[in-house]
Amino acid sequence: MNNIILSKKHRRVTEALTMKIPDRVPFVCLIDLVFASKISGVNVSDCFLNPNAHAIALEKTCEKFSDIDGLYVNLCFDKTELEDLKEEKDKIIIRTHGEITWEMKKDYVGVAKYFGIKDFKDKRIREADFLRPMNTVFRKIRSNIKNEFVIVNGFTGPYSQLVFLMGIEKVLMGMLDEPDKLKNAIKSRVEISKDWIKSIYEAGSRVVWIGEGLASCDLISPKQYEEFVLPYEREVIEEFKKYNIYVILHICGNIDNTLELQVKSGADCLTVDKTDISFAKEKVGRSICLTGNLSTTDLALKSSGFIYENSVNCINKAKKDGGFILSSGCLVGRNTPEENITAMIKAVNNMGYY
Ligand SMILES: [Zn+2]
Repeated sequence: MNNIILSKKHRRVTEALTMKIPDRVPFVCLIDLVFASKISGVNVSDCFLNPNAHAIALEKTCEKFSDIDGLYVNLCFDKTELEDLKEEKDKIIIRTHGEITWEMKKDYVGVAKYFGIKDFKDKRIREADFLRPMNTVFRKIRSNIKNEFVIVNGFTGPYSQLVFLMGIEKVLMGMLDEPDKLKNAIKSRVEISKDWIKSIYEAGSRVVWIGEGLASCDLISPKQYEEFVLPYEREVIEEFKKYNIYVILHICGNIDNTLELQVKSGADCLTVDKTDISFAKEKVGRSICLTGNLSTTDLALKSSGFIYENSVNCINKAKKDGGFILSSGCLVGRNTPEENITAMIKAVNNMGYY
């Protein structure tokens, strides 16, 4: 691995992730298939159900915004591997491994709606392998794109995997009624993840993000995060570290009270969404890289001048001493004007150099 000559973008991002000072603040925005589908001129739902179309959309976005340093692979399913697919008038309904029924409005991503697994002891929790098409997307992206840009491969944290399999209500109830059974169920998702992590390494990924959006302080308390999420996050991150893969941990919304706990996960970088980046930087010091934290609502609704000013502010607050990657705080929405992404690029180019 040491002999690989990295592109300028890869080097810049790696330096930020390892708390060195890069030439410039990297810009790896939380752009995924939703924004990229628009750039590619296809429906979001088509990318959600087709790793090939998904890969092409990300490639086209890299080519169009060639100054970005990277972007993200997110959830995807392979139409040909589904257990069932029904097209209705205004939506598509699919069933994946693990007996999860997903509903998808045309031109939207799928949402897990109905859950076949009802019991924390159900053996299918230990077997359901339904998230790997993200890795298929990564594999399909052309190597010249992957060599130049940092394509952050997707991975779902063990806690959020269980939420996909059983629904958030069931998991939240489990914290109160059956905490030990719930922990065993989450733990079994760590075990099944190990082979997935190996395949992520074999696909050539250098950076992954762990989507653990459902572990937000908006949904669970710091104490619950510490008990039901963190130990299992830490185990999968240890596994990634065996392969020298860098990890960005993404928890949506307000993370004021879990920042210090998240540092203990062993991740290389935390996403700062609704928490102010100065506050976050003060809390974690130089212990971990941070990425964020432009509001996705502002990105969708405000002018490019406003976004430029906000990006400059964010850079000024977080750039010092390295360990910062400019991004939106969460995934860039479908209606985000292209010029707002260009405004963020302009801000790193004008104000991001060290
Ligand atoms: Zn998010």
